[in-house]
Amino acid sequence: MNAPAGTVSQTIDKLIDAEQARFAETHPRSARAWAQGRRHFLYGGPSHWMRRWAGGFPVYVEEARGCHVRDIDGNDYVDFCLGDTGGMCGHASEAVTRAAIRQLERGTTHMMPTEDGLWVGEELTRRFGLPYWTLTTSATDANRGAIRIARMITGRDKVLVFSGCYHGGVEEAHVELRDGRMQMRNMIHPNGVDHARVSKVVEFNDAAALEAALAPRDVACVLMEPLMTNFGMIPAADGFHEAVREAARRTGTVLIIDETHTLSCGPGGYTRLHGLEPDVFVAGKAIAGGIPAGIFGVSEEIATRLWDKIPHLNPRRRQSAHFGIGGTLAGNALTVATMRAVLADVLTPANYEKMIGRADRLLAGARDIIASRGLPWHVTQIGARVEIMFSPTPPRNGADVIATRRGDLETLLRTFYMNEGILVTPFHTMLLMCPATEDADVDKHGAVFERFTDMVLKSGV
Ligand code: PMP
Repeated sequence: MNAPAGTVSQTIDKLIDAEQARFAETHPRSARAWAQGRRHFLYGGPSHWMRRWAGGFPVYVEEARGCHVRDIDGNDYVDFCLGDTGGMCGHASEAVTRAAIRQLERGTTHMMPTEDGLWVGEELTRRFGLPYWTLTTSATDANRGAIRIARMITGRDKVLVFSGCYHGGVEEAHVELRDGRMQMRNMIHPNGVDHARVSKVVEFNDAAALEAALAPRDVACVLMEPLMTNFGMIPAADGFHEAVREAARRTGTVLIIDETHTLSCGPGGYTRLHGLEPDVFVAGKAIAGGIPAGIFGVSEEIATRLWDKIPHLNPRRRQSAHFGIGGTLAGNALTVATMRAVLADVLTPANYEKMIGRADRLLAGARDIIASRGLPWHVTQIGARVEIMFSPTPPRNGADVIATRRGDLETLLRTFYMNEGILVTPFHTMLLMCPATEDADVDKHGAVFERFTDMVLKSGV
């Protein structure tokens, strides 16, 4: 591991080339499908996210069940990507499938509520603690709704986020700190948004910087994950959440906790596990078992302030009640039916226990392999989610990730994984368990990861 940096990166590039060539050889139908897809899709697939797979192109899926995926070339994978969390309930989960079919036969969307929603509303409050909920079609949309409400009730424009965050297509959050200055994340075009006016960004775990940023009382809301998951996993330092809660309360800033990924912590998310007190709670992705959905819940105080601005309405005269929140299909009968199935039968305490047990096993195995070879890497876990990072200790903030991240090794690992029948999220090395993940699936990961470390050590990088 002491070779000069240039030689190391050349060696890794060669290894990536070899793995990508191996991938192309075993995925001819997917390769052809990808070439064909580029004729009519802007970035090859129906969603641009699908283009990022480390093999050079994505596999086309024939069928997915539990934590297994079979592609159109007949390759089988253990899926730890699980649709970057959207599939955390397991593919083709029986409870979700049954609920979806039942509702498909009864009509999916009609701008009227169904009784399933009554159960869902009660359960969301029981699980996550907040009294009032709204459904949206995605986590992005839930964040947008939460921000809009925060602006309406505070009369302020700015949204404060932490460097390295991702909260979906929320433009205010597309910023990061580089050289101490707010910059666009990943060179995303500002899209006409004046970020100096609507965004503030500070480092995670930096309570003093947060205090200073909130002091002018021009921030409508802090939008945060309880621990960061989109820039590698960045745990919250002791006392950080208490400091955020206190500073937000003191400065009249709304605190939005986005649990879209950290729902993997347990039935009530990180919020319930650690007794956080968000003003607004957001989630999405897995919450309706893969049917597009987001949720946000607000505290009694936020609801009361909102009702002051936009009262409940008993229609009598022409009166605009346009909110600009959520979409036409939000909270439709199909979404509500599948969300009910998820909350009642899939993301249950018993299933979380199983998922977290598998994650413990994966973590222990990966740590043993790393330790036995003396590699300067580490593994983190939150609930059912595990992440392998190529630095000796967990980062404290986005700056640490920028300084230590080994993008080339990550790409090599992800390509190697795919060739060996393992899927992980293409943007980071996160491994997620679903209720159908078994010990054998976890042990397959261990064997593959062991071979990966052997390859890396043998190549001298
Ligand atoms: N919040 C977090 C924390 C996320 O990681 C993501 C997506 N990765 C989103 C929100 C947005 O989710 P969606 O793309 O489903 O709207």
